[in-house]
Amino acid sequence: MTEPARRDAADRCPGVFSTHAAADGAVARVRLPGGRIRPDQLELLAQAAAAHGDGYLELTARGNVQLRGLTDVDAVADAVVAAGLAPSSAHDKVRNIEVSPLTGRIGGVADVRPLADLLDERLQTADASSISGRFLFGLDDGRGDIARRQPDVCAVVRSVDASAEVVADVLVGGVPVGSARGDDAVVTELLAVAEDLGDISVGAWRVADLTDAERMDLTTRARTRLATVVGGPDPMPPEPIVGWFGQDDGAVLLGAVVELGRLPARLAEFVAAVAVPIVVTPDREILICDLDEGVAETVVRVLAPMGLIFDAASPWAAVSCCVGAPGCAKSSAPVRDDLLARVRGGEPVAEREHWVGCGRRCGSPSGPHRSVEATPDGGYQTHRR
Ligand code: SF4
Repeated sequence: MTEPARRDAADRCPGVFSTHAAADGAVARVRLPGGRIRPDQLELLAQAAAAHGDGYLELTARGNVQLRGLTDVDAVADAVVAAGLAPSSAHDKVRNIEVSPLTGRIGGVADVRPLADLLDERLQTADASSISGRFLFGLDDGRGDIARRQPDVCAVVRSVDASAEVVADVLVGGVPVGSARGDDAVVTELLAVAEDLGDISVGAWRVADLTDAERMDLTTRARTRLATVVGGPDPMPPEPIVGWFGQDDGAVLLGAVVELGRLPARLAEFVAAVAVPIVVTPDREILICDLDEGVAETVVRVLAPMGLIFDAASPWAAVSCCVGAPGCAKSSAPVRDDLLARVRGGEPVAEREHWVGCGRRCGSPSGPHRSVEATPDGGYQTHRR
């Protein structure tokens, strides 16, 4: 039997103020709660990536953005703080919040962006040392897209009551433990679960790291605080948010992907120039929101030739990879080059694929996929995960 992972070493996940030293320079991760970023913030990140990094914004599997190859980490931190993207240095690494990317614009039981704002605000006044930097919060607006990713703790909105309060089920490690009513009660419960995890096991990063007995303790504590589970429909199978979508308010939302999940800084500046809200999804999609039709047509006409891919049938909507060699010293292969060759070779992509340079499988999708892992002999082996 495999022993659960333990918090026996410092969290090496990068942040803005504690970068990771990779073979190609420092890496900084900018957390975007719910993947949301304003155009002026995107422009500042693009300028920082061009001036101090490798000229790209990497999109991560949690809907965050990463800058790598950094030559001046202090200048990048200053730029991120100036953009308002790191409001608390002590809490930078615990702001891990995934949110239904289309919430408030297309479908869903309720707009969960206010819940995300409240959770982020409350996280920044919480005792950061009691919450693991890898712990993932989820806010699902009822469509099941975030719940299916099994964050450590997730609120799934089931209804909105007569006084406009949300009623949400709380899932711990994917298991429903009860329901809460109202933004404050929902957020309080999500934080309580995160703090309970640190209390139950100081060595655990995530719910999956707990022993069976510890997990039972965690879910029992939550059940005693909550009302009976409301329940709801099973999650819909995931569809890429790539292409042209009509919002509920009549505006247009454009979803795009980029090769290798890397947004060139110059292209990011053009996206920012559209001057509308942007959302980065945990599937590494870029959503350009709240457009009128004429502007949306111009965006497609100008930005598609520059590298934004608006075609849901593109292989780039179904493949992703880690940095590989030479950026990562642990890699057995130049993963990016090999994935580029695989896509350009034209062989169809029949299922979600993630290519990695070693068994750590960084950036893997949370859902079922084919993991293509480099081996020390220069080849690749595949596993279904
Ligand atoms: S999966 Fe391995 S090779 Fe790829 S970035 Fe992670 S540690 Fe490096």
